[in-house]
Amino acid sequence: MSKDHHSKETLYAALKQHFGYSEFRDGQESVITQLLAGNSAAAVFPTGGGKSLCYQLPSLMLDGLTLVVSPLIALMKDQIDALNARGIKAARLDSTLDANEYRQVMQELRDGTLRLLYVAPERFNNERFRTSIANINIALFAVDEAHCISEWGHNFRPDYLKLVEFAKACGAQRVLALTATATKEVLNDICSVFNITPDCAINTGFYRPNLRLSATAVDQKSRDAVLLQKIKALPVGPTIVYVTLQKTAQHVAELLAHNGLQAKYYHAGLKEQQRTEVQDWFISSDSGIVVATIAFGMGIDKSNIRYVYHYNLPKSLENYSQEIGRAGRDGEPSQCHLLACASDLIPLQNFIYGDTPDRTAVAKLVDTIFSQQTEFDVSLYELSQQCDIRPLVLRTLLTQLELKKHLAGGTPFYANYQFKPLKSSQEILSQFDEQRAKFIGDIFRHSQKGRIWFQVDLDNTAAALNAPREKLIAALDYLAEQSLLEVKVAGVRNRYTITRMPESTTALADELATDAQAREEREIDRLQQCVDWVCLDACQTSALCARFDSPLDKDCGHCSWCDENKAIEMVDQENTEISETVLTDAITLRTEHPELLSSPRILTRVLCGLSSPRISKAGLHKSKLFGIAETVPFKHVLDQISERG
Ligand code: ADP
Repeated sequence: MSKDHHSKETLYAALKQHFGYSEFRDGQESVITQLLAGNSAAAVFPTGGGKSLCYQLPSLMLDGLTLVVSPLIALMKDQIDALNARGIKAARLDSTLDANEYRQVMQELRDGTLRLLYVAPERFNNERFRTSIANINIALFAVDEAHCISEWGHNFRPDYLKLVEFAKACGAQRVLALTATATKEVLNDICSVFNITPDCAINTGFYRPNLRLSATAVDQKSRDAVLLQKIKALPVGPTIVYVTLQKTAQHVAELLAHNGLQAKYYHAGLKEQQRTEVQDWFISSDSGIVVATIAFGMGIDKSNIRYVYHYNLPKSLENYSQEIGRAGRDGEPSQCHLLACASDLIPLQNFIYGDTPDRTAVAKLVDTIFSQQTEFDVSLYELSQQCDIRPLVLRTLLTQLELKKHLAGGTPFYANYQFKPLKSSQEILSQFDEQRAKFIGDIFRHSQKGRIWFQVDLDNTAAALNAPREKLIAALDYLAEQSLLEVKVAGVRNRYTITRMPESTTALADELATDAQAREEREIDRLQQCVDWVCLDACQTSALCARFDSPLDKDCGHCSWCDENKAIEMVDQENTEISETVLTDAITLRTEHPELLSSPRILTRVLCGLSSPRISKAGLHKSKLFGIAETVPFKHVLDQISERG
């Protein structure tokens, strides 16, 4: 494409023609210009800053596909619908597509009519997908939420690091990394892994002059009254109240509603339909209050949110800034108020401790993996039970083994197919020629009849019929497409190849356990940074901006510190240790479960109310000691238990 084609004039004309805008927002033009010149770039804009245009517009001007990788693909539906409504062909690939829709997307991908394809990062674990994009010309590889690639970020996802390799492997011509929150270390990481030069990393700054940040120290007892009083003292306007736990969302919404306010609650535990209802209600309301866990707000395009309250402490300053970033996108004055309660720290810390696997569990995992054959498949669910590691944590550990090049992941598959005939078997078989009818009849004969569903053990049946599994799956899929059967899949298994045996499994387990420990410390530290920020004796806005590498040159003049010129003091938590009786009971419990509770960490988990696959299996989550120390810091309990030996 000639250079002339990408002149400033054509850029503005394309902006007007395709999106109807006359001006770029801050940072957009610089990012897009770099991309069109063939460079990789990073866009660090606040939420609502217009990051998506940075790949949407180039997708129309570059020769090839724009692949958008986003962990929030479910929330991209609206964006994709909006693009299609503007006549820009965009699609997503995810598990909600049926076979026909999938085929259609693949067709458009191959014939080059698709401009943008949205996928979740996990999609790259799928060999079928990797093969289908291998021969596609990828002009732009856009990575949304790019801070997830950095260990210094608040939401490190090891599977994100694999994206770096995939971008290379699929020959992407340039990469665009997008994020709303990047500290200096995170942006450095992003730039180094994707080869982005400093002049191509555009950070538009963090300061939002229309946001007034404030905080009040509260204790558990006064918190509800303080919140009510704050809300009632201010003019009505769209409001989000963020809380940590689902049950708190309900409690606070009921409290507000009882006091005559229009409040509803929202969390990931609600049914999809309820969530949509609350969301739609809030979007069209000028006075609604949503009390929500952090699941709420991502992907919500509402510009006139006037208030964001934090009923609980946020997990990190990155989370906090993302959440307050939803206020006042229309530029009108908006307030963000945080209720700072020291006793919130314990449950938040416990979430973090709960995700750190025990050293013995990690050793068991490593031993299990490296005693497999070179090519093997496992059910992550079973492995999680067997090694006593939470499923999400297990995924992280396996990904780390992939990143350390000990393992290579293959496409997950379903071990079991189940089907329910929609016609009699005679009717079904009569539709096929003799050879096919025999094959299908053989599958039927090898399946086990349950009350309604027939089970097909794919491996055994394939061996018995001397046919590849794929042929069996194709046959069942075909019958389902013809509405002759209904098919269900179950028992997902992940495939791996051992690519390098560790020299010492003990050393490898130690390395993984040390990494997990370091992660735990970072997260605990991140939480402490929130407390330090709340209690800071200086301009809070200014400190937050400095944290995100865009310092202000003077105090903001409109945060609670600037108003009052004095720091907030959080009231210390009261419970600092467990009683002698609880300690003695805990030691007795250990003698009843010597193998499971031999590690002080696992016993501590029980006392602090943090489950694990084996704790649940042993029924210990029902013990009277489970959660008895949930208001005591995990570290203190662990120290007390360890001292007892
Ligand atoms: P982000 O991804 O950074 O949170 P979005 O890309 O969702 O933000 O953009 C937020 C809103 O800004 C969207 O409604 C979008 O249509 C609008 N927008 C983006 N760029 C422009 C522009 N140049 N002029 C006017 N509106 C824009």
